[in-house]
Amino acid sequence: MQSFQPPRRILMGPGPSDVSPRVLAALARPTIGHLDPEFQALMEEIKGALQRLFNAPDHACVPLPAPGTAGMEAAMMNLLEPGDRAVVAVNGAFGGRMADMAGRAGASVVTVDHDWGQPVDPARVEAALAEAPTKVLAFVHAETSTGVRSDAGRLCALAKAHGALSVVDCVTSLGGIAVDVAGWDADAVYSGTQKCLSAPPGLSPIALSKRAQAAIAGRKEKVRNWLLDFNLLMSYWGGEGGRTYHHTAPINALYGLHESLVALFEEGQQAAIVRHARMHQALAAGVEAAGLAFLVDEAHRLPQLNTVMVPDGVDEAAVRTHVLKHWDLEIGAGLGPLKGKVWRIGLMGASATAWHVRLCLTALCEALAAQGHKVDVPAALAAVDAKLAA
Ligand SMILES: *Cc1c(COP(=O)(O)O)cnc(C)c1O
Repeated sequence: MQSFQPPRRILMGPGPSDVSPRVLAALARPTIGHLDPEFQALMEEIKGALQRLFNAPDHACVPLPAPGTAGMEAAMMNLLEPGDRAVVAVNGAFGGRMADMAGRAGASVVTVDHDWGQPVDPARVEAALAEAPTKVLAFVHAETSTGVRSDAGRLCALAKAHGALSVVDCVTSLGGIAVDVAGWDADAVYSGTQKCLSAPPGLSPIALSKRAQAAIAGRKEKVRNWLLDFNLLMSYWGGEGGRTYHHTAPINALYGLHESLVALFEEGQQAAIVRHARMHQALAAGVEAAGLAFLVDEAHRLPQLNTVMVPDGVDEAAVRTHVLKHWDLEIGAGLGPLKGKVWRIGLMGASATAWHVRLCLTALCEALAAQGHKVDVPAALAAVDAKLAA
């Protein structure tokens, strides 16, 4: 065997996003024991930082030791028991994954299905909640498969009004658009490190309300998975009265998350959100000047995930191959019904810069030209620059 040397890449797909040198350097610091007092102090600081990040001062916040999907699984497995009713809004791939997990937890699942590219419709969700007592309402705040934002505050309020716990997927939203767990009064909110937090994949920050914690403590049967059982996890992450061994925390990965949070708070959470919005507007101006169209209506677009329609006669996959080969640039393909029809361009975390926007647009136009689809590249870049100067 030989050491693996990854190629240089610019990550502008649906995740992971570019990881900054300071976060990579943090990951390479010496491993210490997970029960070392210095490491326990780091764990405490991360818990507090996650409360600040989620705006969840009264929630229990911990990073789960696996990628974003682990947060989804923890929320479903801890909150649902066999026989419970779960309403899951499905407007893309990740809503579908939530519904699958709720079924595996033994719940009777009612999905509220939407066309891909549409936000979750609160009126239809309310109708489903009104049909029968419901334990959990689950939905995706920022649907990465389509680039759509849904109204989390409204949906959480509907859950509460119908006595249901809300489960909100904020994997792609956290750090890129406002996530206001206290303002929404949400019950279980989870994210991932590899999207707008720009740390490597492998951790899933989760926030659980007092209501959610009480529901978990009062379960009739044990949580069916051991690693993500919140009752056990909290005796490890809880702090007071000393920690008990549960699993070995992914120590160096937590250094990386910590450093990414230091960087985010240095910039300011609000400033980071404004940066994502500005970069999206610049990219959108360039995309439109190049004669390309967005899948999603402007009102529901996510700044951090741009779904651009593939023009007629253009080979979608060949464009991705071209930009990877000639520009070391990764952009995403469409999933499910959008396969072959869209590209998904991420502007997440450290990948949301003017340099990324200009490079991506230049590379994309070159790849289109290589297929005989002529684009006015200077005009597209001028539109980007005009937005950036505004
Ligand atoms: C990426 C993503 C996930 C899954 O996260 P992984 O880190 O890939 O496990 C879940 N939900 C949404 C909305 C995502 O974008």
